Amino acid sequence: MKEFLTGNEAIARGAYEAGVTFVSAYPGTPSTEILENIAPYKEHVYAEWAPNEKVALEAAIGASIAGARALAAMKHVGVNVAADPLFTYAYTGVNGGLILVSADDPGMHSSQNEQDNRYYAKFSKVAMIEPSDSQEAKDFVKIALEISEKYDTPVLFRVTTRICHSKTLVELGEREEVGIKPYKKDISKYVATPANGRVLHVKVEERLKQLEKFSNETELNKIEWNDKKIGIVTSGIAYQYAKEVFGDTASYLKLGFTHPLPMKKIEEFANEVEVLYVIEELEPYIEEQMKAAGIKCIGKELIPRIGELNPDIIAKAILKEERQTIQYDEAKIVGRPPTLCAGCPHRGFFYMLAKKKNIMITGDIGCYTLGSAEPLSAMDTCICMGASVSAGHGAQKAFEFNGIDKKVVGVIGDSTFFHSGVTGLMDIVYNKGNAVTVILDNRITGMTGHQENPGTGYTLQGDKTHAINIPLLCEAVGIKKENIYIINPLDLDACKKTIDEALDKTEPVVIITEWPCVLKKPSPEDIEKFGNKRTICKVDEEKCKACRICTKTGCPAISFDEKASINEDMCVGCDVCLQACPFDAIEKVGE
Ligand code: SF4
Ligand code: SF4
Repeated sequence: MKEFLTGNEAIARGAYEAGVTFVSAYPGTPSTEILENIAPYKEHVYAEWAPNEKVALEAAIGASIAGARALAAMKHVGVNVAADPLFTYAYTGVNGGLILVSADDPGMHSSQNEQDNRYYAKFSKVAMIEPSDSQEAKDFVKIALEISEKYDTPVLFRVTTRICHSKTLVELGEREEVGIKPYKKDISKYVATPANGRVLHVKVEERLKQLEKFSNETELNKIEWNDKKIGIVTSGIAYQYAKEVFGDTASYLKLGFTHPLPMKKIEEFANEVEVLYVIEELEPYIEEQMKAAGIKCIGKELIPRIGELNPDIIAKAILKEERQTIQYDEAKIVGRPPTLCAGCPHRGFFYMLAKKKNIMITGDIGCYTLGSAEPLSAMDTCICMGASVSAGHGAQKAFEFNGIDKKVVGVIGDSTFFHSGVTGLMDIVYNKGNAVTVILDNRITGMTGHQENPGTGYTLQGDKTHAINIPLLCEAVGIKKENIYIINPLDLDACKKTIDEALDKTEPVVIITEWPCVLKKPSPEDIEKFGNKRTICKVDEEKCKACRICTKTGCPAISFDEKASINEDMCVGCDVCLQACPFDAIEKVGE
């Protein structure tokens, strides 16, 4: 039976069919749907959200050592977080097969950088597989697990946004119950002390030689002969783009197994064609290795290394052809920068925080990063998950040490706090810092599309579980009870009063803003705590003095044309504009 699947759905199906029994991930675009699509196979596969990518990979490693086929999934920057266990598991090798899915984001559709994680395979010395469509995404999962078990290596399963989110037809198969391999205590293999590590490193180098032999022989790396005037070496989604541009006018070496590269096969291919191009997205990962091996080819001289590729870019770069596109009047396209939703609980807090002068606001990764956009402009930095708290601490210390009177406020979400914010808070307490930490608890992982996290009380597969209490956690790491504030971020007076008090303190302070994401399907616990009433706000045109202060909240439901008005379909009655209006021109309807 065939189904039309995205790459992420296909990877999930592949894991199911290949007999995987343990899966863990931290959500992150473009990888998130892999776990969401594995979760329903509850009877066969245990799947969970981990608090961060390092934990996800470590849990999968534990399952693999125990003998289960295991998969961990994350976005490219998540692999930076998981790099520590990856590099050592590359040494020890596996028991049950283990795949690490790295979902890269060329073009930065939803990421802070566009690193090319193929280098992680080379750097950590593990095998790597790169599918080019959904069918391969499914089939390659099984092959990757077989390679993992045969060659005793984790496999980096590298995909990109276009593979993850595009749909192609996929022939489904049956699940193969591979069972669990026997677990045998083996200290010399699994205890990575320096003495064992030295022995293991030798094995890793031997393994790489065997893997290169496999790479030269496997059909995962296949030649498609057509006209030999042009030869193209390519992998992943770039293969599809190259085929679209060149069709049968070129021959292809399509690489599906990309670490180690099949240098012998590449050389044979290169010898047969007149001109050789390497078409790959982002970095010259294949090209560099070919050139180092003395194989003449053309790559990044023509193909950009920045941003996502597409057939138009390739046609223009190599054939100097401008491909026809539909013409439109660009002036008519209204720019729509991303913005916090109407009624987003973060807006009220940011609106009040942005009024404070002489502060630095260190931000983090999540919906609330949009607090940096105008008109709120309530953020100075955004580096990576968790850095708001730790960078805030560093900045505060630097200001103090150098005699600069400036306070720092670190702003982080609930899921991100669990991910890696709590360690920054420990740093503040331990090193006697006094930056203010704000945890914007919207009761869910908002930005990636509402995944449960350790604070929500539910697991990925829908079971009720213990919900970590954020105030108690803060207390446990050493924040004094009187320095923990819990407020409703939609209450502007409470926000102002709390921010003022927090900034006056000379000890570590935590402000926790509690209100569910406006798009969240409320849980019974949410309804009990926050209610579930639908109200809206309206502008009384008579009273409106056209001062535009309400528009400064940045709410997309508010527009201005001589007088302010509020779009009823978008408004959820959060009240922030009503409180901001100095002329009482906004009223609440439907209470
Ligand atoms: S999805 Fe939720 S948290 Fe994100 S901007 Fe919208 S309301 Fe805010
Ligand atoms: S803040 Fe009040 S008075 Fe000013 S534009 Fe908005 S609705 Fe009108």
